[in-house]
Amino acid sequence: RAEAALEEARRAGGSRVFCSADGAADNWAEMAAALSAGEFTVVYQPIVDLGSGRTTGAEALLRWVRADGAPVSPVDFIPRAERSGFIVELGRFVLETAGREAAAWAVPGKITVNVSGRELHQPGYYDQVTTTLMTTGLPPGRLVLEVTESMLEADSPVALETLRRLRALGIRIAVDDFGTGWSSLSRLDRLPADILKIDRSFVAAIAPEATSAPLVAAITALAAALGLRTVAEGVEEEHQATVLARHGVDEVQGWLHGRPGDSAAIRAALGRPAVDRPDLPVTDRVSH
Ligand code: C2E
Ligand code: MG
Ligand code: MG
Ligand code: MG
Repeated sequence: RAEAALEEARRAGGSRVFCSADGAADNWAEMAAALSAGEFTVVYQPIVDLGSGRTTGAEALLRWVRADGAPVSPVDFIPRAERSGFIVELGRFVLETAGREAAAWAVPGKITVNVSGRELHQPGYYDQVTTTLMTTGLPPGRLVLEVTESMLEADSPVALETLRRLRALGIRIAVDDFGTGWSSLSRLDRLPADILKIDRSFVAAIAPEATSAPLVAAITALAAALGLRTVAEGVEEEHQATVLARHGVDEVQGWLHGRPGDSAAIRAALGRPAVDRPDLPVTDRVSH
């Protein structure tokens, strides 16, 4: 339903902008009402292994479509939810929804969930994750939690300790939008992480005639030295995937291999060879 509404809004003439009161209390009340009205949904974008060419997992992305059918971009509402604190409720909703849906997939692919700093700094976050794993039946080895580099820069002992305890369960930690922050090398070495997600700005910079991408090469060398896997984000073109593969990037995510879709779509794609299907209708154009 959400994806159909997005498509309709796109046809109707592009992005409608919403200006709502930015007061935290107003924002909380507005989003709480929207959440209970079922206006928030979770979509899944395939993540493809460059070695096998198969879809191995998906990233859960939150979507908000208002009752009148108008979508609100995560780029707009996530920062507002972080300011009001409602992100904690939204994060719980995404983790529970994605955990429940992924647990039912026939092929046991990885499910990646974005975690905001506000959630990670909650003392109860570890218990929330373990409870969700128990109630949904999702094995910890299938869950990947994405945090941003800047979140880790805060160097909060509580957050780092939580990440270490989650990793000890077999949950993997990915650093989102890697390369856009300013992590020192010494801090990277101590990072409780398993995966670096190469920010899509580095992928977008790969021109059609390019045979290499020096910054991507530097990041994959760094990842190899630290024993981390790499996932490139925002892969839109075949030539980008070619250059990324040449530099040893493990997995890719982007419009080339699939837009975010519902649980049934990712369920059908998992474990199968990923193909570029430009003929498929675009159902997700929330942002960018
Ligand atoms: P992100 O975690 O880096 O997610 C990737 C974003 O890139 C998504 O935008 C996705 O739709 C978009 N994308 C994927 N493939 C391509 C491509 O080939 N080209 C381009 N140009 N873009 C692509 P989206 O869904 O609008 O989300 C934006 C950001 O909002 C996310 O960035 C993430 O930081 C945040 N977000 C989304 N869902 C959640 C959530 O459940 N919790 C939290 N805390 N943050 C979320
Ligand atoms: Mg992410
Ligand atoms: Mg990202
Ligand atoms: Mg991001």
